[in-house]
Formats: sequence, C-alpha cells, structure tokens
Amino acid sequence: LLDAMTDQTGIALERIALQADLEQALVTSEAERLRAALLSSVSHDLRTPLVSIIGAASSLADPALDLAAPARASMAATIRDEGERLDRYIQNLLDMTRLGHGALVPKRVPADLREIAGSARHRLRGALRDHRVEVAVPDDLPQVLVDPLLIEQVVMNLLDNAAKYAPEGSRIDVTARVDGARAELSVGDDGPGIPPDARGRVFDMFYRVAEGDGQRAGTGLGLAIARGIVEAHGGTIAAHPARADGRGTRITLTLPLDTPA
Ligand code: ADP
Repeated sequence: LLDAMTDQTGIALERIALQADLEQALVTSEAERLRAALLSSVSHDLRTPLVSIIGAASSLADPALDLAAPARASMAATIRDEGERLDRYIQNLLDMTRLGHGALVPKRVPADLREIAGSARHRLRGALRDHRVEVAVPDDLPQVLVDPLLIEQVVMNLLDNAAKYAPEGSRIDVTARVDGARAELSVGDDGPGIPPDARGRVFDMFYRVAEGDGQRAGTGLGLAIARGIVEAHGGTIAAHPARADGRGTRITLTLPLDTPA
C-alpha cells in the first residue's frame, strides 16, 4: 500500500511539475509576444517623429530653398513639437520599464494638484494649441501626497489623448475636488468617447480601440502607464463619458490626500 501511495505521489508531483513547466512556457511566450510587439511599436513610434524632425531640419539647412521667415518658423515649430513628442514617449517607455521591474517607487511629498495640472498643461502647450483648455482646480484644494513629476506625467498623458482624439477647437477640462479621504482629478473632452465595452481595457498595455474615424497614431501605452503610476500611489483610475448626454471621454483618477479629513 505504501509503495502504491508513493507511486501515486510521484505521479502527482510529476504532473504538478509538468503543469508548472507549461505555465512557465505560457508566461514566457506571453512575455515574448509583448516584447516583440513593444519592439515593433517602439521602432515605429520613434521613427515617425524623427522623420518629421529630419525633414524639417533638412529644409532649414538647405540654402537653395531660401525659405521665408514664416516658413522657417513653422519648420522650427515642427522640430520643437515633434522633439517634445519624442521626449514624452521616451519618458513613458522609461516609466514603463521601471513599472515592469517594480523599480518605480513614487516618492510621496505634499503637492498641489493645481500646480501639477498647470505645469502639465504648460509643458504640453504645443500639442494643446488647437484646443480650449480649462483648468478648474479650486484654490483651497488640500494638498495630495504624491510624486509630483509622475502625476504630471499622468496628466500629460491624459491631456495628450484629449488633444489627439477630440476635435480641433473643442474644450478640454481639468477638474479636481475632494472625495472623502482622497482627491479626485479628471480630464474631460468632447471627442468620440470610449465605447462602454472598451472602458476597462483601454488601461491595458497596447490596447487601442479598433481603428475607426477617431483613431489616431499612438502606442497604446499612455493609459497603461497612467494606471501603473496611479496604482503605485495607491490610487484608482477609470474611464467614463465626459458629458451628461453621454458624449466625450472623462478619465478620473483618485490620489491620497496629505492629511485625510
Ligand atoms: P494611444 O493613445 O497611444 O493609442 P493610450 O493608452 O493613451 O494609447 O489609449 C488607449 C486607447 O484608448 C487609444 O488608442 C484610444 O482608442 C482610446 N482613448 C484614450 N483616450 C481617449 C480619448 N480621450 N478619447 C477617445 N479615445 C481615447
């Protein structure tokens, strides 16, 4: 009997080992798939702005073109805007790598959401120049306990999306308020909105709503990084319609207050 039991245990253990091998293989192939997708997406997304930068710089550098001042200024602006885009993109990649390794540990200092939102808006002024941005953060909003640069990165990702998906000339709002023991900040726009069944998935890495009228160049990383950073602060993030009639997109995040009420 003992022998039979030992045999059974041996078989069971082998099964468990086999199962673990299989799971490991699945995890590895999933990681491989992600790595491959990331590589092709990264090379594409790095090249697109670089091609614009090189094109504009070559025209500026070509004496034969003899460009007039307004044309030169517009090319310089292209170089700046595309350079800023590259910078944000690389920052997002760095954040993502650190999040993946658990190496992104936010520092927590008392900070002012009004200043963070203002700074994000200022740094993104190139991308936002065709929209009306309204920052409505009350003066007396209590301070939050966050890593200001990381939260600025999140707000920039949200503003960048709003500018990308909402029509030119439309309004983008940044709103904040206290909700119990947390501060709540949201960015709303009058764009095409995110379909209800995609609202949970847009925070997944590489997930993009199917190509449609409203779809623009992008990486599917911005919201995944936003979620990673917000959750590393113990906060939450979610997507809703922006307006009472169900139009637009509002991304709402919550953050810890410095001194919870
Ligand atoms: P990206 O914008 O680079 O594709 P994100 O992770 O920032 O990646 O967003 C994921 C997807 O969610 C986008 O591809 C888009 O389909 C959808 N999305 C995000 N923000 C908005 C928005 N403000 N309005 C409409 N769709 C949005």
